[in-house]
Amino acid sequence: MAQKIQAIRGMNDILPEQTPYWQKLETILRRLMNSYGYSEIRMPIVEKTQLFKRSIGEVTDIVEKEMYTFEDRNGDSLTLRPEGTASCVRAGIEHGLLYNQEQRLWYMGPMFRHERPQKGRYRQFHQLGVETFGIATADVDAELILMTARLWRELGLSDSVRLEINSLGSNEARAAYRDKLVAFLEPIKDQLDEDSQRRLGSNPLRILDSKNPEVQALVTDAPKLSEHLDPESEQHFKQLCKILEANGVEYTVNTNLVRGLDYYNRTVFEWITDKLGAQGTICAGGRYDGLTEQLGGHATTASGFAMGIERIVALLEEIAPIKPALADVYMVALGEEAEINAIQLAEQLREKLPELSVRNNFGGGNFKKQFKRADKSGAQIALVLGEQEVQEKTVGVKFLREQKDQLQLAQSEVAEQLKSLINQ
Ligand code: ATP
Ligand code: MG
Repeated sequence: MAQKIQAIRGMNDILPEQTPYWQKLETILRRLMNSYGYSEIRMPIVEKTQLFKRSIGEVTDIVEKEMYTFEDRNGDSLTLRPEGTASCVRAGIEHGLLYNQEQRLWYMGPMFRHERPQKGRYRQFHQLGVETFGIATADVDAELILMTARLWRELGLSDSVRLEINSLGSNEARAAYRDKLVAFLEPIKDQLDEDSQRRLGSNPLRILDSKNPEVQALVTDAPKLSEHLDPESEQHFKQLCKILEANGVEYTVNTNLVRGLDYYNRTVFEWITDKLGAQGTICAGGRYDGLTEQLGGHATTASGFAMGIERIVALLEEIAPIKPALADVYMVALGEEAEINAIQLAEQLREKLPELSVRNNFGGGNFKKQFKRADKSGAQIALVLGEQEVQEKTVGVKFLREQKDQLQLAQSEVAEQLKSLINQ
């Protein structure tokens, strides 16, 4: 036998038993986005490397060690997108969607990061991204959180998630705070881990949300960003809290929440679950008013989030299992003419009942064998055709899951009858 070729580590096949979760989630997400008046945008999955370096920040996990970067045949440096915000802003600038106007956008698709694969952390994973542009006020930040809260409710996950929020203030306030933080950390530099020591010079705020418990302990006494906010950001944050409270959304303020990407200012938030182990953040976002300008566009306020689909699917599998999608009807046919008649009848049924799932029996077999397959298909009903049925233009209706007598119907009326016979 030839040697087997396997998938790339951390890049998953999504198998038939899992796709019902994905389809359910995707269907609900599309409806949810529409119900808030957001429009879909689709961007390529490959972009110029420079786009991500300039937007995400040179000293971030993603740019430092997680990007899939390669040279194409022209020698251009390209990167598989590690996230969608940069591409969305790029597309918005390129097509004149952002200047002097409002946009409410969403996208869904694969992202790529070269991380150590583990539960909830993959090299190809999927995100729903939502981005708004041209709205400076806290009400839109609140709406982003309200729509995610609504999603958890619809999915039955509300009891499994919690919301953390924080404000990073304006760029100026953050720069002033940064100096205070460095002054606090510099004397204890030796006690920090290697990553944090490096960040002290480049991106010290990131040390605050280090996942290393020793570093976490060291920064508990650090000056708090929340105590150094500019008045406008403070007002913005208060307004956000007020809207969340008015809508019954519970939250905790985590003053160490800074997010791993450079472009955030003011509002940041994360939805976290304790049910998935270490990879507990299922949705994260915030405001990024400076990014559009940073990428060469006109200054445009912006706010958004990204949600990790794999992690939500994992939660659903644990908390709200879905029964596998099965066929409704299985066509059983004995004899060559009956086989052809069964295919015709199945086509008619699909025409009249597009929601119905009808599976043909292929490759013949005696009745016993075919009924075994029918049973395995999960179908509720077998439609049975033999020589006699072909001649009389009738069909046998056999109930596979209920103790009911077999019916004999005219082929012309079976579609109408099936509507009431299939209990959805
Ligand atoms: P983490 O702290 O878990 O590395 P992050 O801050 O890098 O997350 P974001 O860039 O904010 O994550 O992406 C938003 C969401 O996308 C995350 O909250 C998570 O649900 C999901 N996500 C991020 N990286 C991965 C990955 N490698 N595999 C699966 N899901 C991921
Ligand atoms: Mg990460």
